[in-house]
Amino acid sequence: MEWFASMPKVELHAHLNGSIRDSTLLELARVLGEKGVIVFTDVEHVIMKSDRSLHEVFKLFDLIHVLTTDHATVTRITQEVVEDFASENIVYLELRTTPKRNESIGMSKRSYMDAVVEGLRAVSAVDVDFASRSTDVRRPVNTKNMNDACNGTRGKKIYVRLLLSIDRRETTEAAMETVKLALEMRDLGVVGIDLSGNPTKGEWTTFLPALKFAREQGLQITLHCGEIPNKEEIQSMLDFLPQRIGHACCFEEEEWRKLKSSKIPVRIS
Ligand SMILES: [Zn+2]
Repeated sequence: MEWFASMPKVELHAHLNGSIRDSTLLELARVLGEKGVIVFTDVEHVIMKSDRSLHEVFKLFDLIHVLTTDHATVTRITQEVVEDFASENIVYLELRTTPKRNESIGMSKRSYMDAVVEGLRAVSAVDVDFASRSTDVRRPVNTKNMNDACNGTRGKKIYVRLLLSIDRRETTEAAMETVKLALEMRDLGVVGIDLSGNPTKGEWTTFLPALKFAREQGLQITLHCGEIPNKEEIQSMLDFLPQRIGHACCFEEEEWRKLKSSKIPVRIS
């Protein structure tokens, strides 16, 4: 484990809300409990439970959504998540998050993402490279510098790139807004678009116009695909030829064949 921990690694599938420290979640829940927004004892076991079913995972994500709605919290969790990955010797991190709108607290998708970028800037434990100096997304990092960082010839450094997620509960318009925001933020390290969220919700065709537009504009696309059996959707997603897919746990023989011939890399865990 020691050798494994010291090895420089890349992390290509980190959801911001899925990487928050348990201690931070408990602290945020306690504060909301004191304010009477939630009942702390009702949510404590949801946070601490391991070995969750798919239903329980999304129950936790719904809770995290309640706990992390304001800008300051988004900034704090981004900073902590990057520091935690750096401490595990991740040298290249792709962090994905769904830009959220919450008019009651003056949050737009843009201000949510500004809070994320603020979190990247707030990291002091390690040198963070997040702003791509080139808008050419095919060359997201300078690999020579990355090798120097791995070899310990420079100070400890982590390269962070952002993927903006479209949530499966969103509309076509909201998905399009996320893609336009990603294009606006290319110089701040945004390299692509992700489709994620509860796989039992939403229709693939809802997001297709936004994903096609993203591709036309040169953004990379990654899809959560085949988390549940859904033959028609899996086939359509593979036909779209995304740069990457995640999960692929409910593929049948035919889909595996298609995946193999299309050479789409899969992130599994
Ligand atoms: Zn995921």
